[in-house]
Amino acid sequence: FNTMHHKLKFKMEQQSQNKINYLDLTIMTNNNELKFEIYRKPTSTDLILHNTSCDPYEHKEAAINYLCNRINTYKLTNEGKIKEEGIITRILVNNEYSTYARDHNTKPPNNNTPQKDKWTKFTYFGPSIRRITKLFHNTNIKITFKTNNTIKNFLRIKHETTDKYNLCGVYQMTCKDCDLKYVGQTGCNFRTRYKEHIREIKMNGQKSKFAQHILDTTHNYHTIDKAMKILHIEKKGKMLNTLESFHIYELTKQNLQMNEALTDSYNQIYDILIKTNQTQEI
Ligand SMILES: [Zn+2]
Repeated sequence: FNTMHHKLKFKMEQQSQNKINYLDLTIMTNNNELKFEIYRKPTSTDLILHNTSCDPYEHKEAAINYLCNRINTYKLTNEGKIKEEGIITRILVNNEYSTYARDHNTKPPNNNTPQKDKWTKFTYFGPSIRRITKLFHNTNIKITFKTNNTIKNFLRIKHETTDKYNLCGVYQMTCKDCDLKYVGQTGCNFRTRYKEHIREIKMNGQKSKFAQHILDTTHNYHTIDKAMKILHIEKKGKMLNTLESFHIYELTKQNLQMNEALTDSYNQIYDILIKTNQTQEI
């Protein structure tokens, strides 16, 4: 087998002292009987999702449940059980959980809760997200959370672009002579879109609401760095549409928008976001 590829090397591990470690188990033979204990690598640490971390409690609970369930589902020896309970207690203490979490996390799943047939995913950015998910309480939509605090995200090299106007996303254009604003999205880049608005002003065109405002009121316009504010950098797609509609909604509430009237006049989720002032985190 090892001749198949020079990078493939399989080694055989043999038992020593009637013991062998396999996955997360130590398997022992004793009078033709198999006995099991939980195995951890010597490099393993006590780190689980820390109690103070910004993660939904469902995720924290799952990390503890995983440890507790193993005790009951594996056929451990009595010594193995006691040892493992001690380790779990230590892990909980080290991650600032009370042992209450351990004792109350072995309850069987409640089968009496009504069946919900659709799931939807929300990004968890703190407890205030529950103000939004609460809206789905009496629907058949079940909520699950995802988090952006992943190792992958922390390790990813962020490419710093020197000119943000070369990117695409949602932008806001402000008039030079009044407070009215225009919110738009672009899938190409901000600079090109700015030029398109200005061209419409010069050509007396009908394609830009911003240009129409400047022409109708004989107001003036700023240079790109003063007129155009970048609200979100985002690739073309559903997310871009949602962000744009949210910012138009927000401006409409403030009576500051020069976009066309909105089709959806009331949006409870947007209202909550505006109220909790979490807009930069959606
Ligand atoms: Zn104006």
